[in-house]
Amino acid sequence: MAAAYLPLGSTRYHLDANCPALDTARLHNGGIVAEITPTTGYTPCLLCVDTAPTEWTVTTETIAELWELIGPAKYHTSINPDTGRVAIDGLTLLEHGNADRQFARFGDTIRFDRNGCYRVRPAAPST
Ligand SMILES: [Zn+2]
Repeated sequence: MAAAYLPLGSTRYHLDANCPALDTARLHNGGIVAEITPTTGYTPCLLCVDTAPTEWTVTTETIAELWELIGPAKYHTSINPDTGRVAIDGLTLLEHGNADRQFARFGDTIRFDRNGCYRVRPAAPST
């Protein structure tokens, strides 16, 4: 198979050497990206490998790719009460099409609807 690209410390690989999510990974990991084959044990990038799905769960692993993938998205931050520091806690989806501004926390699912808008489905509350 073709080479896959794995940023240092990541479990997510890219098939496109020019994947925008790979740029982000390069910036955050000091430019170190390994070439790997095979990709067993790793998860494909949402952006350059996985094109069919229209639903994604926001996690610490996927958030950078989702930010690249979803046009009207930006990082959402809040103060972590334990550390007193500002930390990323999800994505804000800005108003677009007929969709209002929405907040997708870690664990929530973002869905791309047929009408061209992204919708956030909150994670089921833990019981
Ligand atoms: Zn990628």
